[in-house]
Amino acid sequence: MKLIYLDNNATTCITPEVLEEMLPYLKELYGNPSSMHTFGGQLRKRIEDARARVAKLLNAEPEEIIFTSCGTESDNTAIMSAVESLPQKKHIVTSVVEHPAVVNFCKYLERKGYRTTFIPVDKQGRLRLDEFSKAIDDDTAIVSLMYANNETGVIFPLMEIGELLRERGVLFHTDAVQAVGKIPIDLKKLPVDMLSLSGHKLHAPKGVGALYVRKGTRFHSYIIGGHQENGRRAGTENAASIAGLGKACEIAGENLYKERPYLKGLRDKLETALLKLCPDARINGDTENRLPNTTNISFEYVEGESILLKLNEFGVCASSGSACTSGSHEPSHVLMAMDVPPAAIHGSIRFSLSRYNTEAEVKKVIEIMPGIIKELRKLSPTSLEFLASSRKDT
Ligand code: PLP
Repeated sequence: MKLIYLDNNATTCITPEVLEEMLPYLKELYGNPSSMHTFGGQLRKRIEDARARVAKLLNAEPEEIIFTSCGTESDNTAIMSAVESLPQKKHIVTSVVEHPAVVNFCKYLERKGYRTTFIPVDKQGRLRLDEFSKAIDDDTAIVSLMYANNETGVIFPLMEIGELLRERGVLFHTDAVQAVGKIPIDLKKLPVDMLSLSGHKLHAPKGVGALYVRKGTRFHSYIIGGHQENGRRAGTENAASIAGLGKACEIAGENLYKERPYLKGLRDKLETALLKLCPDARINGDTENRLPNTTNISFEYVEGESILLKLNEFGVCASSGSACTSGSHEPSHVLMAMDVPPAAIHGSIRFSLSRYNTEAEVKKVIEIMPGIIKELRKLSPTSLEFLASSRKDT
């Protein structure tokens, strides 16, 4: 059975051209980029080429890009750098719907004596801007807000927020792990000081990421050791993956403008049909400002895990909330923050598409999904009790 992979916010496949780009580094180009001899020189040049490719996708300067091991490392580094650079400031502002790479790092810093304000969102997952401006004070070292949410795809208004923070002179980091490669990002215009991205979300391999640090921003290394990455991130460079990330960024840049309407078209088709064909279904998140590839749909009074298992029987891979939280059996912190009713949270499914998905695949999901929902609602002996108790809760 051919699998239909609709879980691209969890991770993506490696594009064949990216793999081609990487293979020489796993064979003949095995040198250490820091070595003075021929092997080292060959690699150094290629790492700089990859850096230029990443920078180009973001309209940044190559020297503003630091390669890291993943999105999590980039997020941790950005926040740590800010608090280390401004030792007198002890306050961090972020949102309630951030990825654990930010939320849990802030909680870690709280245990070290820092204070965090988690800005709430409204029912559509939009940042409460009224709460936001009140939260900033003279003690604020950094504001860290995601560009786009991994579970719902909702995009935060970074331009507006960044302008406000420039006026207040506060450092601004964005976790753009889900946005890079899916929507255009122009760092010459966007008022952010640091931005995180991750290779495996845009058809490069796992284990590589990058942190953009705007020229002139004070920076403290997080990984301490050798002089790699201009003394900003120690550790022998993962040359193969860095080259892969460079190629993936080049491909993303070339395809962005045609891919966006393609993904949006497929996603909207899926969403519209499922809402029409499945009773008690609802979209979670602001449908105006959303990534083109993501939909988070609740099928009320059915367990999300049961839907996933049924979909899996048909070869369809999706997710209930983020891949990082779905193993924990905790209800999604993002949907809870949006005040989604419990019965809808439990039945929420995220479909996230990529350039490799087709009309035929979407059609298949549209065909099977109403039957799955109907069967599960009928089978579940507790569904009526569940329905009643959930209605009481909300
Ligand atoms: N930030 C967001 C918004 C994410 O979706 C993820 C991964 O799911 C991360 C950070 C972490 O990235 P990585 O898996 O590269 O550490």
